[in-house]
Amino acid sequence: MIRITDIIEKVYDYYPGADVDIIDRAYIYSAKVHAGQVRLSGEPYLSHPLEVANILADMKLDTVSIACGLLHDVVEDTPVTIEDIQERFGQDVAKIISGVTKISSLSFDNFRERQAENIRKMILAMADDIRVILIKLADRLHNIRTLNYHTSEKKKKAIAQETLDIYAPIAARLGIYWIKRELEEISFSYTSPEAYEKIKQLISTNQADRERYVEEVRYTIQNLMDSANIPAQVKGRYKQFYSIYQKMEKQHLEFKDVYDIIAFRIILDTLPHCYEALGIIHAKFKPITYKFKDYIGGPKPNGYQSLHTTVIGPYGERMEIQIRTHEMDRVANSGIAAHWSYKEGKTLDKGSKNTFEWIQNLLENHKESPGDPNEFLDNVKIDLYPEDIYVFTPRGEVKNLPKGATPVDLAYLIHTDLGHQCTGAKVNGRMVPLQYQLRTGDTVEILTTKGHHPSPGWLNYVKTVKARSRIRQWIKKQETERSITLGRELCEKVFRKNRLNFNELLHTPEMAKVTAEFKFKTVEDLIANIGYGKITPLQVIRKLVPGIKPKPEETLLDKLIFRHKERKKKEETGIVVDGMDDILIRFGKCCQPIPGDPITGYITHGAGITVHRVGCVNALTMSPERRIKVEWKQETVGSFPARLKFWCYDRIGLLAEISAIISQSGANIEEMNLEHAIGKVVNGSFTLTVKDLDHLDEVILKLKKIDYIQQIERV
Ligand code: MN
Repeated sequence: MIRITDIIEKVYDYYPGADVDIIDRAYIYSAKVHAGQVRLSGEPYLSHPLEVANILADMKLDTVSIACGLLHDVVEDTPVTIEDIQERFGQDVAKIISGVTKISSLSFDNFRERQAENIRKMILAMADDIRVILIKLADRLHNIRTLNYHTSEKKKKAIAQETLDIYAPIAARLGIYWIKRELEEISFSYTSPEAYEKIKQLISTNQADRERYVEEVRYTIQNLMDSANIPAQVKGRYKQFYSIYQKMEKQHLEFKDVYDIIAFRIILDTLPHCYEALGIIHAKFKPITYKFKDYIGGPKPNGYQSLHTTVIGPYGERMEIQIRTHEMDRVANSGIAAHWSYKEGKTLDKGSKNTFEWIQNLLENHKESPGDPNEFLDNVKIDLYPEDIYVFTPRGEVKNLPKGATPVDLAYLIHTDLGHQCTGAKVNGRMVPLQYQLRTGDTVEILTTKGHHPSPGWLNYVKTVKARSRIRQWIKKQETERSITLGRELCEKVFRKNRLNFNELLHTPEMAKVTAEFKFKTVEDLIANIGYGKITPLQVIRKLVPGIKPKPEETLLDKLIFRHKERKKKEETGIVVDGMDDILIRFGKCCQPIPGDPITGYITHGAGITVHRVGCVNALTMSPERRIKVEWKQETVGSFPARLKFWCYDRIGLLAEISAIISQSGANIEEMNLEHAIGKVVNGSFTLTVKDLDHLDEVILKLKKIDYIQQIERV
């Protein structure tokens, strides 16, 4: 078992002035709380955090990272809480440990391959400090190194596969290739043991020959560099088993057909030497032109820089050669970690322009306060995907959404019908409102109700384009359908008034012509636009029957009537019957009582109670034994019909004015009848719906003020 003193010595090596107190304290605490726990290997549990801390020290990380390595499992595996950690080691350590614990608690059982990318992003998005990821990688590295102690083959394979799919690519993305390679190599031996053994065997046959070959090529290249006066270090190495395997799989090759299993690397002092060396190599060995890549001119996003070329070697075989500087080589091995490990007073290289934006910020921040590596690390906040969140479905799938997205967005992302019928959501098992903003790591269950419809209010908070457009489409469709119904009713009515049959005319060539004149594509569009109120049925009639003198009809009024019909729904009756509850109440059509009217009830044969106004003729004639006392409730909610009759002198705009006043007073017109009496006198009646007697009086008072209205009264 590695000792803490070895680790501390390592830290002193790369950072002589380090304050290792926090490492000491973390070690003592971790030893205490893990005491008695044992690894599958039989070693004390403490060996694991020690090894993880050691890997972090190999990456030359700061003292806080090392301390966190020692403490990384205490919250997950012992009764210790984050609060305990915060109290003892401060907020920094607590935040990192909580990040590591959060990722460890994710369960990716049975994820499908296409999910892997989202899971990787989720892990990166969950860590708000890059050190969380590095500790997680170190943790996984040690676990995979000791995977052989697991007894279940199935478990071994699952862990190895997860490592290949999730952790190795994360290491690659961060440019920490040595970890990526080791994770892949070990995992591969578990996921495909036969292929692994086969490649191992094939490489070991003729090994002596191959080693002679490597030495020969290495010597040739070294000579070429020496004679050009370029100081160079030349290395030859076998490629990873896993990358050989991937190549065989991808290109359907037999092992004997995989030539470039050996790669050479030329490491130089300066950048101009790299291109010079490339020229020399290409002059000596014929390059395979399409196999050349310049990652110096265009570095990989993680900062990796190198020249890659594949040439025809001395025996006609393919050879891959990488050319880079020492600095590039260092970055290639430790990647992002290299950018902020301790550097013995050296300033950071400013060359890697195409690195992630946050590294740039990092470098910017460091420029402002160079010197203290701890302060520098305080600025290491990772926000690789600031615009994205990642959530789980109940089946464990990971879905990617924009920040601020709600359960409605997720529902539409999964399926349009799921979105339409979505009525609620559970996040991590608890009910949340639909406008709840989801967070990375949430498990979200969408609740639906069959036949439920989207609400226009959703548009106020959905974030995804898909949800927005699906909801809009639905609303549009509903509006169109409603407008068509309304437009059709309006037309039927107005046409009838003009002794025309709308439905018979509907599919005639004349109607098609009118439709075209209004520049609508279909008759449906025409009707919908009548419903919208953009054109009136009269306009249609005038075009349809040139020369007709249509009866003036107030479409505004029609609309008011229709609007009311739509709004009509089951309402409370507002009646209290003595000693009886829940009784069917009807209002006498004869007298239409409204709240405030003195009323009386009459028990009918099997149809509940009919309510009449006290003075109603029908009420006066009903048998006394069937009478029952009824009252209005204190507060009545609803609208009640009341019939008014009036007579006035006709004039232009009269109807419009009447209907405007009625609608302004919050009443609705249910129906209206007009008759021209002698000359310009109009006799009319209409039925209004009002809240109560006061309301009705108020409306009547206003109507009386209209010019030309001679008389108006309740029937
Ligand atoms: Mn661990």
